[in-house]
Amino acid sequence: MDATVAVTEVNSVGPNTVAIVLESPDGFDARPGQFVKLSATVDDEDYARFYTLSSPDAHDTFEITVGVDPEEAGPFSQHLLDLEAGDELDISGPFGNEYYEDESTIVVLAGGPGVGAAVGLAERALRDGGSVALVYKDDAPAHEERLADLRERGATVVVTDGDLADHVDDVHDDDAQVFVYGFADFVQEAADAVDAAGGDPADAKVENFG
Ligand SMILES: Cc1cc2nc3c(=O)[nH]c(=O)nc-3n(C[C@H](O)[C@H](O)[C@H](O)COP(=O)(O)OP(=O)(O)OC[C@H]3O[C@@H](n4cnc5c(N)ncnc54)[C@H](O)[C@@H]3O)c2cc1C
Repeated sequence: MDATVAVTEVNSVGPNTVAIVLESPDGFDARPGQFVKLSATVDDEDYARFYTLSSPDAHDTFEITVGVDPEEAGPFSQHLLDLEAGDELDISGPFGNEYYEDESTIVVLAGGPGVGAAVGLAERALRDGGSVALVYKDDAPAHEERLADLRERGATVVVTDGDLADHVDDVHDDDAQVFVYGFADFVQEAADAVDAAGGDPADAKVENFG
């Protein structure tokens, strides 16, 4: 589905990280783990980039979380950081096949801006009565309030800027569906950690941000 939608809220949720709430177009439905394509013209250049749902559902509105690495990112993500309520964006989607399908036990591994997808998914799984472990790697963490709330509601939540493998080993569960969200280096580190913990990385649902 292609649509032009209004931004309804923009909230800072950590260093260089914003959560952007958008109107859901009529008939739009997306599950945690799916992503949308956002398009805009910035300084006369046309851009299109993908962002993963960071809300537990997409009824009426949905949220994405954008993390901008000042050393790596380009003008488009900076443009998203500067959005305000009332601005409009062109979206298409949802896309992706590696999404939450009501699994009852989940382990979510998130790196950098992958934390948005992770909190949305974890919130949805807890709401559905599931069991949740979330390991988040970042040296400047975002979404701390929602992570604390998840912890209070019974999820195992680990935030680290160190070696992922020890923490993945601690939460490893043969019966859990593993989800991985982040840029390519993190995805590789997560696959190695799952393998080292005795799991099969090929069974994980993985979204590589590039
Ligand atoms: C399926 C999919 C889902 C995605 N979901 C999200 C999401 O939920 N949230 C989100 O913030 N981004 C997400 N991305 C990444 C997003 O689409 C953009 O690539 C990102 O915002 C940078 O866009 P840019 O135009 O500013 O920089 P670009 O010029 O596109 O960035 C160039 C390169 O810099 C590196 N880079 C950029 N930003 C970062 C960063 N923050 N950390 C580490 N390396 C970085 C990457 O290697 C990237 O390819 C997703 C990408 C894909 C493919």
